[in-house]
Amino acid sequence: MSQGNLYILSAPSGAGKSSLISALLERDSSTPKMVSISHTTRAPRPGESHGVHYYFVSKAEFESLIEQDLFLEYATVFGGNYYGTSLPAIEQNLAKGIDVFLDIDWQGAQQIREKVPSVKSIFILPPSLPELERRLIGRGQDKDYVIAERMAKAKNEISHYDEYDYVIVNDNFEQALGDLQSILRTERLTKTYQQTANAVLLNQLLDK
Ligand code: 5GP
Repeated sequence: MSQGNLYILSAPSGAGKSSLISALLERDSSTPKMVSISHTTRAPRPGESHGVHYYFVSKAEFESLIEQDLFLEYATVFGGNYYGTSLPAIEQNLAKGIDVFLDIDWQGAQQIREKVPSVKSIFILPPSLPELERRLIGRGQDKDYVIAERMAKAKNEISHYDEYDYVIVNDNFEQALGDLQSILRTERLTKTYQQTANAVLLNQLLDK
């Protein structure tokens, strides 16, 4: 069986990354796929639950997991909070042929590229900075000072777009979702992927 593909999705907050990932999981059944659940030390927002959106842990617990070498990557992202991707679940799911998506920032992406060179990374851009701010205010999740902090961080995050393999501008949601699906489809058509997926056929065709 072919391994699943590992994908990184990064974007400034408000660019629509979480909605795109949710829609992809709900609407695209072409291949099995899942999102990795990160650990974080930030507090849950209303509607978020442990083990679904994140594993919410204390700083001491997070630091103990770092010492146990559980993380494939981790970084300090917002407000001095740790965010990290743990390794075991990812390996198990890839081995079962499931595509795994990592919703992580550019710092985590850099660490993963070092460790997993085959990873494919996708950057989601907003159509403009005013639209990004409008979306952040519109989702009503953050206080004013957090929105100001997220806008300041957005430019820094965007400055890393050229480290990624693919770039999607999320102006029209349906079009951006289609772009994401096209990337997945393309990645399943690469020679490397097909050599495993169609190993039997290739052997027959080549009389091996
Ligand atoms: P939020 O607090 O809005 O859930 O996430 C803030 C940022 O942290 C997002 O850009 C998200 O991609 C990033 N993030 C979430 N989980 C991880 C992780 O495990 N590692 C890293 N490096 N960043 C993460």
